[in-house]
Amino acid sequence: MHIIHVASEIAPIAKVGGLADVVYGLCKELVRKNHEIEIILPKYDCIDLSHVQNLQIEKKELTPLTITWSLRYENLKIILLEPKEVNHFFNRETIYGLPDDIDRFLFFSNAVLEYLLHTKKKPDILHLHDWPTAFIAPLYKEKYKDLGVCIKGIVLTIHNMEHQGKCSSANLEKIVTNPKFYLTPDKLQDPFNPALFNLLKGGIEYADFITTVSPTYEKEAKTPEGGKGLDDRLRFHEKKFRGILNGIDTGYWNPEKDNKLTHHYSTDCPLSKRKFDKVLEGKKGNRKHLLSTLGMSESAAPLATAITRLVPQKAPELIRYSIERTLKNGGQYILLGSTNDPAIQNQFLELKKFYSNNKNVAILLNQNETVAHLIYAAADMFVIPSIFEPCGLTQMISMRYGTIPVVRLTGGLADTVFDIDTSTIAETKRNGFTFEYPDNKGIDWALDRAMECCSKNPQKWHKIMEQAMAIDFSWVSFAPKYVEIYEMLISKKARS
Ligand code: ADP
Repeated sequence: MHIIHVASEIAPIAKVGGLADVVYGLCKELVRKNHEIEIILPKYDCIDLSHVQNLQIEKKELTPLTITWSLRYENLKIILLEPKEVNHFFNRETIYGLPDDIDRFLFFSNAVLEYLLHTKKKPDILHLHDWPTAFIAPLYKEKYKDLGVCIKGIVLTIHNMEHQGKCSSANLEKIVTNPKFYLTPDKLQDPFNPALFNLLKGGIEYADFITTVSPTYEKEAKTPEGGKGLDDRLRFHEKKFRGILNGIDTGYWNPEKDNKLTHHYSTDCPLSKRKFDKVLEGKKGNRKHLLSTLGMSESAAPLATAITRLVPQKAPELIRYSIERTLKNGGQYILLGSTNDPAIQNQFLELKKFYSNNKNVAILLNQNETVAHLIYAAADMFVIPSIFEPCGLTQMISMRYGTIPVVRLTGGLADTVFDIDTSTIAETKRNGFTFEYPDNKGIDWALDRAMECCSKNPQKWHKIMEQAMAIDFSWVSFAPKYVEIYEMLISKKARS
């Protein structure tokens, strides 16, 4: 199959969060299965070129809107579209968070269809991700299909219902001549404000299939609380809507070969006693290195961590509380958090100052891939108190590194973490500590049990580690579910 993914992020060259990891991991697995995969992104000036060897201009005058660049990253073919205007939408310092984000990604959506029109590529599947690319579905069906662009099926994956791309006709009229045509309840009209257009909704209405990133989030998105206004339309379209759990790239996230670690260890199962001892030894080595690099005191106390964007969805106030609680219980804590929100940034800067003389805490307020890998390997437990979490990758990465998740039961966390004491699934499949309500009591309940078990019951703790490490979160298990959808759409098209 020829599948083109269109996205605003891909790891590691243009990464903000999990969306980037998903596009990278899923596409790599699809290539491994011999599908023809291309990925189209905007050519951001902030792309991390240190990873890229053969970036080249492919076509300068192919389309009126953009210059086409191409590059290979590992086994992936990536196409970057650069606007021809000199001061353009993507020569900024960040991927999102700018006042004209809507115009930037509407331009990109249009540019992708222009690219397909002029290259005469006829992919079997166009796979879109989130609101920045969702408008491609309506624009294709209402305009570019008649101009000769030919696609057998469009899939939209929703990574987060919170961001929907709401805009006015002033935005849309830069792309289409008849914005009002789209302002109806079965097209782009926003359910909360009928004067606004909603780009994600447009994708939902027009895509041939919609997926989201975990089975529990699929259910949540169909409720008023989780659907953020679009639950009604997702219920209406439920026959073409499915939750598929994300995988992680177990080649990239591999403590046996991870070149960012100082000590390597294999968590691939079965784990003999000797291999398990190596896990403990490896984790200890990485911890020693990390603690000394961060100026923390070397201690055998439980080490808790959180690696996260600090945004309201991730419950920053509970992350802050989990630090306090860990210290009270005699543990150590490393927070690696990044945020664009100045108020949250200030709160955490204050906290960093407050703990500046405490050698049991490190608060790192930036995005740092190398340190993230070291923390996954060094820590005992990983705290995720999210208000909602469509899938969450950090709990899976943690388990791959033998670090036990302490999480709130929501979205994909509920599909991947099973409480050692209270879950109803088989004891051998339990792998962490969970709590239901996102409040301090919830943290106390889960974190206290985890810390007590870690410090006082090593036998039980090691069993949890073994059970967590035994789970296969690789894309090998999850990519076939997308292939099944692609094949279904292609055969449906052939019958029509
Ligand atoms: P989200 O997409 O909502 O941010 P996920 O759990 O799906 O959350 O994915 C988060 C990804 O981003 C993981 O790969 C995690 O390691 C990474 N990450 C988050 N914050 C940081 C940070 N401050 N530094 C480095 N990596 C980070």
